[in-house]
Amino acid sequence: MIILKTKQEIDSIKEACAITASIFDVVKSEIKAGVSTFELDEIVYQTIKSQNAIPAFLNYGDPPFPGSACISINEEIVHGVPSRKRILQEGDIVSIDVGALYNGYYGDACRTFLVGDVKPAWKKLVEVTEESFWQGIAQVKKGNRLGDIGHAVQSYCEQFGFGVIRDLTGHGIGTSLHEGPNLLNYGRPGRGLRLEPGMVMCLEPMITEESFQIRLMPDQWTLVTEDGKAAAHYENVFSITETGVEILTLTATEREQYAERLQQIENQGWA
Ligand code: MG
Repeated sequence: MIILKTKQEIDSIKEACAITASIFDVVKSEIKAGVSTFELDEIVYQTIKSQNAIPAFLNYGDPPFPGSACISINEEIVHGVPSRKRILQEGDIVSIDVGALYNGYYGDACRTFLVGDVKPAWKKLVEVTEESFWQGIAQVKKGNRLGDIGHAVQSYCEQFGFGVIRDLTGHGIGTSLHEGPNLLNYGRPGRGLRLEPGMVMCLEPMITEESFQIRLMPDQWTLVTEDGKAAAHYENVFSITETGVEILTLTATEREQYAERLQQIENQGWA
């Protein structure tokens, strides 16, 4: 079921998303060799709680997820479980996926960070994953369908020889963390659900160095690449309004970085 949101509801989601984005500002400076994923998770927990919000991932699912952030290193794709034993090493890439529940509405976002000096192939993977999000967002315009977004993400990543995860997808978001529709990172242009104002969704490319096959670890949460190669993840919530597209989980710094693109998408076809 697709739940279209009113402007008021979108404003509420915006608040949850602003809290979600604020986590990246805090956690970014703590990403360095020697830090455990448990310590990073603690920072995420405190940042959410200090804004009177609830960590959306904590105790989510079955078995209940034991952290406030999913922290996934190198070959781990998503849902990495924070642990005192997992210590960041120089050259790692680490994705931090966070969610906040505020006033009944959810925010959900992910960034993949570089730990110190990262080898060029992995740096490229992280850059392409982030850029593929923007390639997908550029397709969010009047007359387009979900398949146009997925196709843009997929074709952008595959030209570099990277793999696009099939078994995990983006999703609608609102008063639930995961709502319909599923937003695939692959697809065919002109196929799937038609985009319309009131949709609020997470677009979250999960991209690997090579194969898109995945494997679940014995902790029942962590998903890794089957071939042991690295994966990157980038996610934002976006809303479709009557005038265009808004991205709700960017930090102030990211808004500056992407100012030109944000201006482009604000009115890309719904005016
Ligand atoms: Mg998500």
